[in-house]
Parts: sequence; structure tokens; C-alpha cells
Amino acid sequence: MNNTFIGIDVGGTTVKFGIINENGNILDKWEIPTNTDNEGESILSDIWKSIEGRVSLHDVAGVGIGVPGFIDQKTGDVYEAVNIGWKQVELAKIMKEKTGLPVFVENDANAAVLGENWKGAGGQVKNLVAITVGTGIGGGIIANGSILNGESGTAGEIGHITMDPHGSPCNCGRQGCLETISSATGMIRQATEKIHEYPASPLAEVYARQNNLTAKDIFELAEKGDTICREIIQHAAEVLGLALANLAVIINPSRILIGGGVSQAGNSFVKQIDDAFRRNTLAKAGEVCEMKIAQLGNDAGIIGAAFLVKQNLEKVTF
Ligand code: ZN
Repeated sequence: MNNTFIGIDVGGTTVKFGIINENGNILDKWEIPTNTDNEGESILSDIWKSIEGRVSLHDVAGVGIGVPGFIDQKTGDVYEAVNIGWKQVELAKIMKEKTGLPVFVENDANAAVLGENWKGAGGQVKNLVAITVGTGIGGGIIANGSILNGESGTAGEIGHITMDPHGSPCNCGRQGCLETISSATGMIRQATEKIHEYPASPLAEVYARQNNLTAKDIFELAEKGDTICREIIQHAAEVLGLALANLAVIINPSRILIGGGVSQAGNSFVKQIDDAFRRNTLAKAGEVCEMKIAQLGNDAGIIGAAFLVKQNLEKVTF
């Protein structure tokens, strides 16, 4: 019986594996370090060795892989995955040769969205926007039951919506993208600017003591009533809520999921995003849309990669 899927989530630090059954339950999971040396040339053989040593492929219907980069979903080729050093890797083709199984490839953020919608906070809705707020802001969109990929795979790159054309420089080479304001990195940058402005503030004290600053510090100080930190968080939530409000006018989702480290920093942050979202979106878009915190954490990627196989082999959509 070929009734299980292998879901793989390739990250910059670890490669996560899951054996997932057709109901989306994890039967086994493990991880190996990602060796990014020499443009990540050993990653594929490391993945294959790890599978070979652990799984009887007899029961497996197919392999799904999420990769942090730009993907051609039709061929399963990876154009570029900067974090792991890959350029022009025929991922699906190579893994298919090694495993003898069907192999499907997606961008890792999109795979995570599929996972959340299958077994997590998405609840298998047809129209969903999911964002991950951490070091950067990642995202994915499910529209009419399927991942929205777009013409060159950039659909759902919510972190790079321009929110301030004259704002701070972004990793993508432009200025004022959402993630320069509302990600952990963005909040830390704003806090650092405030330290110069207010050298006697509690924020400046924390910085002087630790010689660095984390998003957690900002949330903790805000919790204690620090006005500067409260303003930074309020601004981050306001801008994020506005971006989601604009997106909701286009996608008209029934759910928006907020995940990632910063979403765990406090329910009040998500509440602030939700308030800003509702103030800024069309009434008809807002009234059908519920904002929730993502549930699956690190498992979303492997579960979603498994769903990718199910979706392609069984021709299912949400
Ligand atoms: Zn950008």
C-alpha cells in the first residue's frame, strides 16, 4: 500500500524530514544539518542517504520538498536558493532518479501555508493568506483552493510590499518594504535609532548591558510600560495590518494566519495587527475574515510538503 508521503523542508540550518500519512498525521520525523559548503553540493546526497537509511520506500506514494528559493513548480527545478547556495538545481529530476518516486517541489513558505491549511490553523479554507513574522516577513497565499504562484514565483512575497518608498533599505535592493518595518529586524532597527535619540531610556540601558538588542527585549520593555517600545510595536502592527488590509481587498480571504517568532511574542501584537487590519480594509472583506495565530510551528513545512504530493497525485484542492 503506497499510503504515506515523505515531506522534506530544506532550511539554511537543518533539513527536516517527515513521514506523513494520508490524513496528514506525522508517523516519523527527524532532521539533519544542512551542509551549505561548496554551494550546497552535498545537500541532495545527504538527503538521499538519510532517507535510504531510515525509510522503506515500499509504502511511500511520493516525495514533497520545500526549498527556500525561487522554484519552477512545473519542472521542480530550483532557479536559486541563496541561503543554501543552490543555483539551477534540477531538484525534482534528481530526486526522482534516486527514489524512483514522484517528486514535487515548492517554495518553503508556500509549503508551510499548505501544511497550516491542511492540519493547522487554516482549517482547509479555500482562500487564505499566511504570513511569518521573524527575521524577515515571509508569506503565502491560497486562492480558490490552490497556492498562488504567479508568473515567476513571487506571488505571496508579502514582506516585499512597499509600505514606504523613502524608507530603510531592504535585502531585496529596494526601500521601505514591509519587512523593513514590521519584522524583528525592522523593529530592532527602529529601536536602535531611538537609542541615539534617547540615550537615557530603559531601551538604551538594556542595550548598554547586553551590547545588543532582540525583538524579545522590545516586547518585554513594552510589557513593562515603556513608551518607546510600545510605539515601535504599535507602528509595526499598524503597517502590517495596513498591508494585510490591502491584500484582503485583492484576495478576499476567510482567514489570515500570523506565524513566526514575533507572533509568539504576545497575543496583544496579533490583536493590534487585527485592529489595524479591520480599520483599513473594505467592510465586506473584513467581515468574512478571521485572523489567527499559526499552530504547527516547525512541522508546517514537512506536513505541507507531504500535502503537495497528495494534491498532485490525487488532484485534490482545498
Ligand atoms: Zn524588499
